Amino acid sequence: MPRSGTSAPAETALVAQRLAQLLDQHPPGDSEDLEFGGAQYDLGLAWVDFPQGSGGLAVSRRHQRTVSNVLAKAGASVANVSRNVIGYGMGAPTVLAHGTPEQRARYLRPMFTAEEVWCQLFSEPGAGSDLAGLSTRAVQDGDEWIVNGQKVWTTLAHTSTWGLLVARTDPDVAKHAGLTYFIVDMRGEGVEVRPLRQITGEAEFSEVYFTDTRIPDANRLGARGEGWAVSITTLMHERVAIGSAPMPRGGGAIGEAVGLWKDRGLTDPVKRDQLAALWAEAEALRLTNLRATQMAGVGTPGPEGSTGKLQWAELQKKIYEFAVGLLGPEALAYPSTYEEIRPNEAASGRRDTQKNFLRSRANSIEGGTSEIMRNILGERVLGLPREPRPDKGIPWKDVPR
Ligand SMILES: Cc1cc2nc3c(=O)[nH]c(=O)nc-3n(C[C@H](O)[C@H](O)[C@H](O)COP(=O)(O)OP(=O)(O)OC[C@H]3O[C@@H](n4cnc5c(N)ncnc54)[C@H](O)[C@@H]3O)c2cc1C
Repeated sequence: MPRSGTSAPAETALVAQRLAQLLDQHPPGDSEDLEFGGAQYDLGLAWVDFPQGSGGLAVSRRHQRTVSNVLAKAGASVANVSRNVIGYGMGAPTVLAHGTPEQRARYLRPMFTAEEVWCQLFSEPGAGSDLAGLSTRAVQDGDEWIVNGQKVWTTLAHTSTWGLLVARTDPDVAKHAGLTYFIVDMRGEGVEVRPLRQITGEAEFSEVYFTDTRIPDANRLGARGEGWAVSITTLMHERVAIGSAPMPRGGGAIGEAVGLWKDRGLTDPVKRDQLAALWAEAEALRLTNLRATQMAGVGTPGPEGSTGKLQWAELQKKIYEFAVGLLGPEALAYPSTYEEIRPNEAASGRRDTQKNFLRSRANSIEGGTSEIMRNILGERVLGLPREPRPDKGIPWKDVPR
């Protein structure tokens, strides 16, 4: 649907004109990534559905695919996006939806160029699926907040400049009502980042400790007590970013499995049948995601984003189980001595089938587990009876834990 009174052909023409201008003035081969990314933002091609002046053109989100395709063909780098996946996919829409004009102007451009990398400080040792039960405390002190607590599984905390933090500001009200959302300086005083090593050997995420960390009130995102609503924006975009990333036909995990099949000249008819069934599932998911993107307007995606996340996570695991099966005994020869690697360029560094198999086990946990996705779909899409909520309406401080 064309938006802002602009017709669909006018939107297409505007995007094409800006792309031509970008490539003409900043030929990818001759431009530094930073310069190119900055120009892409200034021309409104960072997030095309964002308003003009905030990295967008206020046109339908579906044009972003055209931008990606044209820039990929021209050889433009996407290192800024892979280095800053959380900022690009989750931080930006959250700052846009809930930030003040000053916050948008301050954060969005360096977020897009990845001059400033972002991380998400939501999960805690006692609060993952039950995120609204979190305990990290923020207490107001004049124009500042003092934060104490611990976060965990914080992807890219070690490379981040800024963190998206949700903390408890009022323990006397029910759990969802007592939260506030902040932007925290990851290099500030009282922030300690400790690596956590995964099954792959890599430490792409960390535990983060806050000890009397001071955050200026100007870094609050949304009103005091509105942290849950702001968090929902981040979470919905997280699910879409994880489960619905644009993929060429036969690309991604299924492409890797087909590649292995071909490279090894395999012929087993049973395995071929299994591969074909996985390919069909992957293609159905790709087309469903494509349709969802085409139909998407602007703003926060709905609970339907959970469908893509759920299907993607379960399919990734199935495909990589199948792929390591094709490797046979060779699959056991994992090419790593489990040295601790801290990837800097992307959330996940080295790529090979064994590692991808191990990493895929996390797909049904990160961004909300498959059980939680099913709960959301059951309750909010299908309208089934809700789970019992024994802590509903009870002040957070009185909930047994
Ligand atoms: C690779 C990876 C990267 C991550 N990156 C980040 C990050 O950058 N920032 C961040 O904040 N967090 C991050 N996380 C954390 C992630 O969001 C949580 O692990 C996830 O939400 C689950 O929480 P939990 O680990 O506390 O498990 P729990 O909530 O303790 O769940 C344990 C098990 O119980 C099940 N369960 C829990 N409640 C229910 C229920 N009501 N109904 C049915 N089953 C239920 C779960 O499905 C799961 O199987 C990451 C996790 C991974 C694996």
